[in-house]
Amino acid sequence: LKSTVVITGASSGVGLYAAKALAKRGWHVVMACRNLEKAEQAAQEVGIPKDNYTIMHIDLGSLDSVRQFVNNFRASGKSLEALVCNAAIYMPLIKEPLRSPEGYELTMTTNHLGHFLLCNLLLEDLQKSSAADRRLVILGTVTHNPDELGGKIPPRPDLGNLEGFAQGFKPPISMIDGKKFEPVKAYKDSKVCNVLTMRELHRRYHDSTGISFTSLYPGCVAETPLFRNHYPLFQKIFPLFQKYITGGYVSQDLAGERVADVVAAPEYKQSGAYWSWGNRQKKDGKSFVQKVSPQARDDEKAERLWDLSEKLVGLE
Ligand code: NDP
Repeated sequence: LKSTVVITGASSGVGLYAAKALAKRGWHVVMACRNLEKAEQAAQEVGIPKDNYTIMHIDLGSLDSVRQFVNNFRASGKSLEALVCNAAIYMPLIKEPLRSPEGYELTMTTNHLGHFLLCNLLLEDLQKSSAADRRLVILGTVTHNPDELGGKIPPRPDLGNLEGFAQGFKPPISMIDGKKFEPVKAYKDSKVCNVLTMRELHRRYHDSTGISFTSLYPGCVAETPLFRNHYPLFQKIFPLFQKYITGGYVSQDLAGERVADVVAAPEYKQSGAYWSWGNRQKKDGKSFVQKVSPQARDDEKAERLWDLSEKLVGLE
């Protein structure tokens, strides 16, 4: 019997190529996507064999939809061996915050809160699987980390003391720190939350469940549609900048293989690890466990984020 992996946002970019790579390695991929037709077309375009994937609807920008997805997944009767939290939005040019049906700012909802709820619910399914090796992987990014070149460009992520979450995260509040809306910072803040969530999952559940919780920065995948909401000139120059200046550029195929390694290869099983592939650090592009940013390794913050996120998604 095939192992099953759920990948969110598998209709494009890193998620799509991770689906392709894992299908090639014999996994059954549940592509959890908001646009079913787009996902079907994408799967066909990259040549994933029909038997190796199932497309299921999820809108991570809606907590009800996340719960509905979990119900549908359970109704399918599949076991769950791995979950990849990959979907994200990046809206650098918007002036006013968009909102989820609950009224929460949409970047933080899609990237963090939706995934936080999904991880908590699917933990049960991962536990039920009889496989010895089960993994939960959350996509990180270099921009979460001001200690890195790619993380130094302002605005820097800053969760503050999570004042915005503590105050309920509804209008007029739009940022986790309760400060003025900044869409680029909202993305970076959400990615810090992704890393904090992975580390807190590890702290709470690794010993008792044996599940491995990991995160990775696959490199700069400059040609994914993540930058679709940026200026056209930026979209042209950014891949070249990454190729020739920072050396961080990776193809979508390679990024997908890296995710697949973290999901399936024995050497990436280490729970709590944040994987990175050297570009500036290591010339040969060999993977290593990287230290995350001071904010992302703050255990007290991780715990507070967990408690407040539980309240916001209604898990309490
Ligand atoms: P893409 O924009 O190509 O893919 C994002 C995916 O998320 C798409 O499938 C998109 O669906 C989906 N998505 C967006 N909103 C929702 C939603 N509300 N519900 C369900 N699915 C949704 O981006 P990338 O592939 O570049 O990024 C994927 C991950 O990799 C992100 O977590 C990102 O932070 C991370 N990453 C990317 C890097 C890069 O350089 N590109 C570098 C480091 C990390 P749809 O197709 O319908 O739009």
